[in-house]
Amino acid sequence: MTSEIFFRISFVLLWIMLGIVRGYYGRKTKTHDSLVGIKEKLKTADQEMGRGVMILTAIITIVGGAGLILYLLSPPWWVWTKLPLGELVQWLGIVMAIPPLFYLIWVHRHLDTQWSIALELQEDHKLITSGPYSRVRHPMYLGIFVYTAGLILIASDLLVFIFFAFSIWVNYRRIPSEEQMMIEQFGDEYSEYMKQSGRLFPQFHRDGEEKR
Ligand code: SAH
Repeated sequence: MTSEIFFRISFVLLWIMLGIVRGYYGRKTKTHDSLVGIKEKLKTADQEMGRGVMILTAIITIVGGAGLILYLLSPPWWVWTKLPLGELVQWLGIVMAIPPLFYLIWVHRHLDTQWSIALELQEDHKLITSGPYSRVRHPMYLGIFVYTAGLILIASDLLVFIFFAFSIWVNYRRIPSEEQMMIEQFGDEYSEYMKQSGRLFPQFHRDGEEKR
């Protein structure tokens, strides 16, 4: 087995594993309720983005999607988008992508049914501040970002990079509106939570600095 095939198989397996984790924990959420539900959520997601980003998303989905298929099939005539990063970098990608899968299981177990692919609140939405949420407000995004960066390195392909880097950017952009939504819903409780946590990484400030 050549190493290129090995990395491609690893890429697919890692992707399937994330799908299994998301599918397993998603089955309890509203997102899973019906296909109609998913369509509605995608529509809300689109509205949140704004028109410009929506068009960009459409273009990148088509071009990047084609790139992804080309990467996976890897016909001999398709070599233009390969990035010569080297095997060591591809190995680094595998090492980067595996721990987030376990981290995401931990995150899902805490976020539970409050999870949604769109920015929305459930009927009896609870504010989660436990486990991975105790120090970081967006552990799911953090896990997905590191995992995605790992896949980018494994593939070492320009179109795969554009496709996944764009998905990181789209999710990153959502954070301020998500926090705004949570402030509107939970008020001071969320503001207090913000003081003790960081967005993607824990806050490290000296004790007492804030109290002054
Ligand atoms: N941004 C979070 C959650 C992603 S899922 C993370 O990265 O871990 C998106 C949904 O999670 C949003 O629609 C919101 O309703 C919900 N959410 C985000 N933070 C939450 C929290 N601390 N407690 C409960 N629900 C939360």
